[in-house]
Amino acid sequence: MRKPLVAGNWKMNKTAEEARLLVAEMLPELQKIDGVELVICPPSTSFMTISAVLAGTQIGLGAQNLHWEGSGAYTGEISANMVKEFCKYVILGHSERRAMFGESDETVNKKVKTAISNDLIPIVCVGETLVEFEENKTIEIVSRQVIEGLKDLTKEQASKLVIAYEPVWAIGTGKAASGDGANKVINESIRLPLEKMFSQEIAQGVRILYGGSVNAANAAEFFGQQEIDGALVGGASLKPGDFLVIVKAAAK
Ligand code: PEP
Repeated sequence: MRKPLVAGNWKMNKTAEEARLLVAEMLPELQKIDGVELVICPPSTSFMTISAVLAGTQIGLGAQNLHWEGSGAYTGEISANMVKEFCKYVILGHSERRAMFGESDETVNKKVKTAISNDLIPIVCVGETLVEFEENKTIEIVSRQVIEGLKDLTKEQASKLVIAYEPVWAIGTGKAASGDGANKVINESIRLPLEKMFSQEIAQGVRILYGGSVNAANAAEFFGQQEIDGALVGGASLKPGDFLVIVKAAAK
C-alpha cells in the first residue's frame, strides 16, 4: 500500500511572517487528519520560521528547488546541504522552472541525484505542454522526462522518489485533467518506464501524485484513481479551507 501524500507548492508567495500565520491557521485541523503524509513547500526565506511552527508535528517541509553543487559561486542558488537543515523533501523539475529558468532533463537528473545523496526526498515533476498535448505527444514526452530525469539511478535511489504528473496546461489555469485521463498517463508514461528501468516492485512502490488545478471540488476524483497517490497543489494550498478539504479527500 502506498501512503497518500499531499504537498502544497506555495511558489513565490508569502513573507516569513505571512507564512507563519498561514501555517498556524491550518495546523490544528491538519493535525487531526490521519493516513496522509503532508508536505508544505514555502519559499526558502520561510524555512526557519515554518520549521519552528511544524516542530513536533508529522507535517514535513519541502523546498521548491536546489542546485546540484554543494557550494560555491552560484549567485541566487541554494544547495542540498542548506535545504536539508530544514526540509525533508524538495520539488525538482517543476514546469515553471523548466519553462522560465532553463531546466532540462539533464539538470533535473543532476538535482535528483544530489537530493537523494543528501537524504532529501525529491518530488520530481513531469508533464506535457498544451501543444504537446494537442499533438498527442503526452506519453512520448512524459516517458522521456521520466527516463532522462531518472537516468543512472540505482534501484535503491529510485525507491526513494516521489513523482508528480503535472500537465503544464493544467497548472494555474483552472482546467484540471480528468481523473481517468491522468491515471492513464501515469500508468503508461510513468509506472511502465519505472518498471522497465528498475523493477516491478519499484514501479509499484513509488508514489505518483497528480498536480494541476487540484481544488476542493475535484480532489476526490483524482484520489479515487488506482495509480494516483496524492496531489501536488499550487493555488489551493494557500487557501486553508480548500487545502483542508483536499487533504481530507486524500485520507479517505
Ligand atoms: C503547481 O504549481 O505545482 C500546481 C499544481 O499549481 P496549481 O495547483 O495552482 O495548478
